[in-house]
Amino acid sequence: MTIDATTHPLTAAAFARMDADEHIERILRMDAIWAGIRTRVATGQQMAVPQVWSELTPTHYAATARTSCWQGDLVYAGSGLGLLHAYEMARLGWRVLVFDRGEVGCVHREWNISRSELQVLVDGGGWTWAELDGVIMNEYQDGLVRFYRKNEAVTLHLPEVLNIALDAGALLALARQKLATLGVDIRDFKTLDAVHVSTDAQQPALVRVCGTDGTVQTYMARVIVDGMGTVSPLSLQRFAGRPYAGVCPTVGTVATGFVEGEAPELHDRRVGDILLTVSDAQRTQQYMWEGFPGRGDELTIYLFYYDTLIRGKPLGRPTPNLLDLFEDYFALLETYKPSNGAAHHHKPVYGYIPARHSLQRNEAPLLRAVLPIGDAAAQQSPLTFCGFGSHVRNLRRTTGMLDAVLRVNLEQSDALQLVSPFQINVSLNWVFSRFMQPWGEADADVNQLQHHFMAVLERYGTTFATRFFRDEMRWSDYHKMILGMFVAYLPIVGIAGRVLGWHTIQWIADYLRFTWAGALAAAGRMVGVTTLERMAADLPVRWRLRLLALVGEWRVMGWDR
Ligand SMILES: Cc1cc2nc3c(=O)[nH]c(=O)nc-3n(C[C@H](O)[C@H](O)[C@H](O)COP(=O)(O)OP(=O)(O)OC[C@H]3O[C@@H](n4cnc5c(N)ncnc54)[C@H](O)[C@@H]3O)c2cc1C
Repeated sequence: MTIDATTHPLTAAAFARMDADEHIERILRMDAIWAGIRTRVATGQQMAVPQVWSELTPTHYAATARTSCWQGDLVYAGSGLGLLHAYEMARLGWRVLVFDRGEVGCVHREWNISRSELQVLVDGGGWTWAELDGVIMNEYQDGLVRFYRKNEAVTLHLPEVLNIALDAGALLALARQKLATLGVDIRDFKTLDAVHVSTDAQQPALVRVCGTDGTVQTYMARVIVDGMGTVSPLSLQRFAGRPYAGVCPTVGTVATGFVEGEAPELHDRRVGDILLTVSDAQRTQQYMWEGFPGRGDELTIYLFYYDTLIRGKPLGRPTPNLLDLFEDYFALLETYKPSNGAAHHHKPVYGYIPARHSLQRNEAPLLRAVLPIGDAAAQQSPLTFCGFGSHVRNLRRTTGMLDAVLRVNLEQSDALQLVSPFQINVSLNWVFSRFMQPWGEADADVNQLQHHFMAVLERYGTTFATRFFRDEMRWSDYHKMILGMFVAYLPIVGIAGRVLGWHTIQWIADYLRFTWAGALAAAGRMVGVTTLERMAADLPVRWRLRLLALVGEWRVMGWDR
């Protein structure tokens, strides 16, 4: 497969130079899936989603179960973030199998995170800093957020946000080795074909997979963990073809050759760009840039924009897909980081990063015995879209809860819904993400508003802003930001009405829920969260699980102190 050099000349040339042909098919497939989802949501069409999950009668189930060649507790479908999860569950003593349609643990990603977030892995006991230091490519001193303004632009300095660049491939390769040491079954090149459960809910689930040579295998497990990413077939079925509401189409490259220096537009190996705009809206989108120094003089650069799926909202002008975005990336790169034409691109990075736009923990019931994680669950912040960060931060919480649910044999009940990285303070961010997309005719709208927002964050200090970008926003933080915006930029009232429209009602309802959650956490703090955890032990099992899930969420959000 090739890129059409007449429509995308810069991309065709750059991909040829990177010898990145293998990526083209993947990019075109992602674009086609995304275009389909977008059109169907906008036109309200029902999507004919393949029904990969189904219930079988006990007789039919028994016949299928007889073909199973592996039996255990957990089968992980997909081995990106799933691998880290699988490792924790295997350490807790559960029998685990991991399979992937590619090679298990082979990802094409660059992940940024902070040291204190990585500490969760070390605190869990499964990782040492020596191991993690081996996969850290760079750790820099400062991270910047800035929105373009002709004259004065506020620059937010966040030294402890996304300031560690990880070699994702090396991390997962290490995780794979560790899993093998624990005796976990690892199956490469197996594609999920079907998941069956019995109408008799006492029976484990069955997963049928196909190998590249057409061979079929069936595995039997108590829970199927769905780590198959943004367009997981199980997620598509669960959400009737509408797997998420917010998305960041993202492209970029790992590149070298940029002019180095301390001036803001130059490449400084000690500084990461967390979120930056260098111009007003282009091609109907406000383009954002990220730039994270890697090994040596390498820089991983992303160009992306925020997009939203609103049911029944007309599509309007077409939004750039990944291929279009790549063309703009190569055309505009010098406006972000100058190289005087010397930039050398080593590999492409790209994807549709998803997030949900809802305060509801579960917008659709789980498919019985299927637990979504990572991008399949899409519970990361709809503002920062840090799926890896969210997964790591919540890892002890989600693995601890899954362990608790398995121990009381409730995995085929609604108790499995409690095993979720949902954070109420993060989900409210869908409102902020709407202001990252142009809403009127003026190309400067997003930059102007965000400039004022950055000034508000700067006024409250680095710790405050760090909490916001690391998904630890408190109830009181939210009010400071909203009221701060009213004072700093009164036109926000009219803009909010225009941008949110009838979604203002959703925002009010969400705000009330957020406030209720804040009040509950305040009451919890008065009693003491460790006291609550002790008390949980004496409660009936379902109440115990609910209380533990709640306390777990408070801990991750920093609401326990
Ligand atoms: C360009 C880019 C940059 C990013 N940067 C950051 C960052 O700096 N920090 C951060 O926190 N997050 C970042 N993210 C988000 C983060 O990368 C994702 O949230 C995370 O990788 C999701 O992992 P996952 O395992 O859920 O899904 P994926 O990584 O998509 O993995 C899914 C796996 O499932 C397998 N699979 C799919 N379908 C099947 C099937 N039918 N059968 C079997 N296997 C299947 C695939 O082969 C794949 O291995 C970035 C994302 C992108 C696209």
